[in-house]
Amino acid sequence: MSPPENKISPLKQPVTSLWGVGAERAVQLARLEIFTVEDLLLHRPKRYEDRRHFRKIAELTKDEPFTARGTIVALGLKRFRGGQKSIFEIILDDGTARLHCRWWNLPFMQNYFAQGDEVFVFGKLVETKPRTMDHPETEVIEGGEESFIHINRIASIYPLTEGLPQRWLRGTIWRTLEKFENQIAEPKPAPDLKFFPARANAIRMTHFPEELTDVEIARQRLALDEFVALQIEMQSRRKRFEANAKALPCGGDNRLMKPFLARLGFKLTDAQTKVLREIRHDLSGAHPMRRLLQGDVGSGKTAVAACTALMTLESGFNVALMAPTEILAEQHWRNFVRWFEPLGVKIELRTGSRKEEKSEARTAKNEPAPSSHFTLRASHLFIGTHALLTSGFDLPELGLAIIDEQHKFGVAQREQLVRKGNYPHLLVMTATPIPRTLGLTLYGDLDVSVIDEMPGGRGEIKTFVRSTDKLPKVIEFIREKISGGRQAFVVYPRVEDSGAKELKAVTTEFENLQKIFAPFRVGLLYGRLKGPEKETVMADFRANKIRVLLATSLVEVGVDVPNATLLLVENAEMFGLAQLHQLRGRIGRGAHESFCILISDAKNFEARQRLKILEETNDGFKIAEADLKLRGPGELLGREQSGLPKFRFGNLIEDLDLIRRAKALAGQII
Ligand code: ADP
Ligand code: MG
Repeated sequence: MSPPENKISPLKQPVTSLWGVGAERAVQLARLEIFTVEDLLLHRPKRYEDRRHFRKIAELTKDEPFTARGTIVALGLKRFRGGQKSIFEIILDDGTARLHCRWWNLPFMQNYFAQGDEVFVFGKLVETKPRTMDHPETEVIEGGEESFIHINRIASIYPLTEGLPQRWLRGTIWRTLEKFENQIAEPKPAPDLKFFPARANAIRMTHFPEELTDVEIARQRLALDEFVALQIEMQSRRKRFEANAKALPCGGDNRLMKPFLARLGFKLTDAQTKVLREIRHDLSGAHPMRRLLQGDVGSGKTAVAACTALMTLESGFNVALMAPTEILAEQHWRNFVRWFEPLGVKIELRTGSRKEEKSEARTAKNEPAPSSHFTLRASHLFIGTHALLTSGFDLPELGLAIIDEQHKFGVAQREQLVRKGNYPHLLVMTATPIPRTLGLTLYGDLDVSVIDEMPGGRGEIKTFVRSTDKLPKVIEFIREKISGGRQAFVVYPRVEDSGAKELKAVTTEFENLQKIFAPFRVGLLYGRLKGPEKETVMADFRANKIRVLLATSLVEVGVDVPNATLLLVENAEMFGLAQLHQLRGRIGRGAHESFCILISDAKNFEARQRLKILEETNDGFKIAEADLKLRGPGELLGREQSGLPKFRFGNLIEDLDLIRRAKALAGQII
C-alpha cells in the first residue's frame, strides 16, 4: 500500500506523532539522529542477544563478552574520598554462581535496580574470583503484556543515548512496526529483487529476527536500497547534465601535439596512449567530458594532462590546471613552461602568494611578462592552486579544467572550477588508487580511465621497516648513497596544522640532521613556510644543491625529483598506508635503485602488520584496499572529501557485489 500522492507519507511524520513519544523522548531520539517514524524504523541494532539460551554464570570466562541472566540478591552504593568517588554494585545469582557487577562513579545507577529484580547483563569478566564485570550493559526483566518482545527471543540491542532505556526503545520500535509495517512501500520505481525479502519484511527481520541468519539477509536488502537510491541520484544528475550541456569541440588537430611528443624525450606508454584515446573521444563528443584519471604514483599522469591540454589549446580554447599545493603548482608551471612555451602557448601561474614574483622571474629570463587577463586571446594555460577559484579571477574561453590530486579537493571545489566556464570539459586525476567499492560509490557520475602500467626504465624501490635503534645504521647507509650523488627525503609527521611545539620539534630535528649529514646541505620544507621560501628550497633540491630535504607530509603529493632515491619516514606509524605509499611515490622516479625506510617503534602488533604491507607490495591498489579495511573510507580519502554519504546498512568495504548490482539496477530504472 502506498500513500496518496499529495499527502506526506506517514513514515515522514515526526516521532512525536507516535504514542508515548513526548518532547523529552524526542530530544533523546534526535541525539541519535532519529527525527521521523522512518528514522526510527531504520535505527540499526548494534548487536543481538539470543535470549533463548544463556550461559550459566558458573561457566563465564574472561575471554569474550557474554549475556547472563540472574536475580539481584544484594546491592549497594559505596562512597569514598569524601563522597567524590563512588562504586555501585549489584550481585546476581542464577542458581549456578554469583556475579558481581560494578559501576564506578555513577551513583545514579542505584535508581535503576531493586533487590529481587531479574536482570540481563552483557559484558566481559574482569575478575573470576569473585566473578566480576565492570560497567556491563543491563536490562531489568519485567513481566507483563509485552514481555515477549524482550525475552525468550533474539533481542536487538540498540545504540542508546543518555536517559533512553533499551527496553523502552525496543518496545516503541515494536509498536511502531506493528502500526506502520504495511505502509512501508517498496522504493519507486521498484528494482527487480527476486532473491531478497521485501523492504517491510527486511525491516522487521532487522529488529525482530527469528534466527540470527535473518539479520544479514535483511541488511543486504536494506543496503541495496541505499546503494540503488544513491546510484539513481548520480545517474540522473549525469543525465540531466548531459541534457543541458553542449560540449565545446576540443578534440584538436595534432598541430601542437606532434612537435610536443617529438621533443618530450620519452615515448608514451601503451597505457597512457590508451587513456588519451578515451579522452580524445570525449573531447570531440556531444557531452562535456567528466572523466576521472586514475593511476598509481609515478604512472605519468602529468604527461596525459599535458596532451589533453594540447588538444584543447589546438582547438582554440583555454585550459586551467589546479593542484592542491603551491609546490606542486610550481612544479607543473615549470614543466609546462618548458614543454609549451616553445609551442607558443602562454602560461600563467596563479597561487596564493606567487603571482608577482613569477612575472619577475620571466623578465629576468628576458621573456615578455604575461599580458593582463583582460586582454587574453585563446590558447592560454592557467596553472594554480585553489587561488584559481577566487572570484576576481576569470578563466575566459575555458575549454578544459584539469584537477590534479583531486582527492585533496572537495566536490564543491571541483564544481566551482567548472562553473568558471560554460560547461568546460573536466579531467580529474588521482594517485590514490580508489578501491572499486568506493570508486563506484563516490565517482558514479564520472567515467573512469586507468593507467595500469608504469613507464619502463625505473629503478626498483625497496622498502624496510626499522626501529629507532637501527637509525645510526640507516643514516650511515643514506650518507653513503648521498656521497654517490643521490638525494634523500626525510619526512617528519604532521607539522603544518599544529602549534609552536611541533614547530620546535621539526626545527630541532633539522639542526640534528644538519650535523649528521654535514658537509652535505640539508633543506627544510614545511607548510607554514612562505611561498617564495618554499620555492627556493625546492629549486635548490631540484638542482641537487640541497642533498637531504627534511619535509612534512607536504611533499606527499606530486613532487617529482628523479635523482632523489632515498626516503626516510620518521614515526611512520602515524601515517596511513595510502599516505605512506604516496610518500614513497616521491622516489623510484629515476633509473637508480631506490630505498624507502620506515622508522617506527610501534610496539603494537597491528601497527607493525600495517607497515609490513608496504614492505611486501608496491601495488597501490592492494595498499588502498588494505587501508580501507584498516581505517575505513573517511580516513582513506581524507577529510576534504565531503561527498561520501552515510550508510546505515551499506558497507563500503565489503559490499562490492551489492554496489555493482545497484549500479546495474539504477541503470535499468533510469
Ligand atoms: P604521476 O602519475 O605520479 O603524476 P608524473 O606525471 O609525475 O607521475 O610522472 C612521473 C615521472 O615519469 C616524471 O618524471 C615523468 O616525466 C616520467 N614519465 C611519464 N611518462 C613517461 C613515459 N611514458 N616514459 C618514461 N618516463 C615517463
Ligand atoms: Mg602527479
